[in-house]
Amino acid sequence: MIKVDHLSKKFGDLTVLRDVTTEIVKGEVISIIGPSGTGKSTFLRCLNLLDQPSGGKIEIDGVNILNPSTDVPKLRRKMGMVFQSFNLFAHLSVLDNLTLGPIKLLGAGRAEAQSKAHELLKLVGLAEKADSFPDELSGGQKQRVAIARCLAMDPEIILFDEPTSALDPTMVSEVLAVMRRLAKEGLTMLIVTHEMDFARDVSSRVLYMDDGVIYEQGTPTQIFEQPQREKTCAFIHRIRSLNLRINSQDFDLYAINAEIEQFCEKQILPKKTRQHLLLLVEELLVIYRPRLAGAPLEIILGYAEKTGRLELTLDALGDAPNPLDSAALPDELGLTIITNLAESIDYRADSNGNRLSIRLIRD
Ligand code: ADP
Ligand code: MG
Repeated sequence: MIKVDHLSKKFGDLTVLRDVTTEIVKGEVISIIGPSGTGKSTFLRCLNLLDQPSGGKIEIDGVNILNPSTDVPKLRRKMGMVFQSFNLFAHLSVLDNLTLGPIKLLGAGRAEAQSKAHELLKLVGLAEKADSFPDELSGGQKQRVAIARCLAMDPEIILFDEPTSALDPTMVSEVLAVMRRLAKEGLTMLIVTHEMDFARDVSSRVLYMDDGVIYEQGTPTQIFEQPQREKTCAFIHRIRSLNLRINSQDFDLYAINAEIEQFCEKQILPKKTRQHLLLLVEELLVIYRPRLAGAPLEIILGYAEKTGRLELTLDALGDAPNPLDSAALPDELGLTIITNLAESIDYRADSNGNRLSIRLIRD
């Protein structure tokens, strides 16, 4: 269906795609993963000529679309695209967002377009929102409308560019659920995503992109369970960590929070996780405060991309008793908050030092 041959793309002196070669067969669901800035979006944008490739060949159904004679609007009709930001027409109702393309570009009749739009809204779970305006919808609902709008054009393939990255964490799963359903129904999909579990479940093939090339590709099992090449392994198994050193009771909580926020942003952790983490650290520091007079405290925040596991480790010197022992606490409020946020809590102490490990609940 789509054949990409030695595709390259430069922006001025910057080479973003060096040499991308792959083939996409009808019905495939392909996830593209990889570090940011490695050309994933540019690759999608080259496929529907939102970016003009610098070299190579893209054939769709046997026709090289890089020929100047290519009918670009027609090409784009075959390829829907769903972006991180929903790009709905704010001044149009949900229904009109869905019927505009079919009426204007496909020459569909109004009644026909509307009846199909209602059907698609049902498919994405938003039948009752037909007359609402985009402003009245949540992020997850907007993205589902954007997907329905894509489907209204009867595309042969849909390109998704991080469709859930801009969403509140509570809304990620409703969008992924719709995408799972489309995948099950056999729609051809190319999905750039950071949702590793989703990519593993839903894809027939995973492309790992790094530095402007498809560095490794394979089935989800091959890529996620037995990656072969060095950078893929590092990406799949990476544990990112943040070390915070607290030297005294007069620590700067604002600075600590800012570092944690920055870390969460880098790791693309959902907002709710970030809030939980900030709260957890704050409560822990209240409890640890009396001890900070004597010895510094090292807080390590570890995040394993593959499993989504998030762990806090607090290291201090000395064979001190468990600071979370309720008998030692002035009240139980902080402890209750910590316990509620933790999936597991472990404390060990010996003459070398003491370590509290807390694994955060993720949902
Ligand atoms: P990814 O989606 O993998 O994060 P992108 O394809 O968005 O990566 O970007 C790859 C690189 O290309 C980045 O360094 C980015 O700054 C650069 N880039 C993307 N679009 C443009 C553009 N229109 N002009 C100049 N540089 C660009
Ligand atoms: Mg991108």
